[in-house]
Amino acid sequence: MTRTAQCHCGKVSLTCEGEPDPVLMCSCEYCQRRTGAPFMIGAWFDENKVTIEGQTKTFTRSNGDQGMLVSYEFCPECGTTIWWPAPDGSALKGKISVAGGCFADANFPAPTLSIYEKHKHPWISPPEGTTGFETSFNTGD
Ligand SMILES: [Zn+2]
Ligand SMILES: [Zn+2]
Repeated sequence: MTRTAQCHCGKVSLTCEGEPDPVLMCSCEYCQRRTGAPFMIGAWFDENKVTIEGQTKTFTRSNGDQGMLVSYEFCPECGTTIWWPAPDGSALKGKISVAGGCFADANFPAPTLSIYEKHKHPWISPPEGTTGFETSFNTGD
C-alpha cells in the first residue's frame, strides 16, 4: 500500500510504501507544544520506503530523558513538522517517523504503542490493546 503525507500548505510531501511499524502516540510535553495538540501520532517506516519531495528545515532538540538528539523536519512555508529520523541510539534506527496527522486519513492504522503516558490528558483513551509506557521506550520521541 502507498500512502502520501503532506504538510499544511502542500509544498512538502512524503510517499510511503508498505505498512508503518510501529504506529505510536506520544503525549510528551514537547509533542504537545510542537503539534498544538494533546498528543501526536508517529508512523514509522523503513527509510528506504519513503520518498520525500520539497524542502524542509530542521529543528534539533535533546529528548531529555535519554539525551538523544532528535531532528525534526518541518516545512519552512507553513511550519508543519512532517517527519523525523530515528536518532543515534534509538531502537528504531533505520526508520523514519512520519507525522500521522499529515496523512489526513481517518482509516490510517491506529497506534499500538502509547508513550509518555505520564503527560497524557486523562480524557484520552488509547485504543484497546495499546501498550502504554510512562516515558519512552527508547525511540527518541
Ligand atoms: Zn507546508
Ligand atoms: Zn513526544
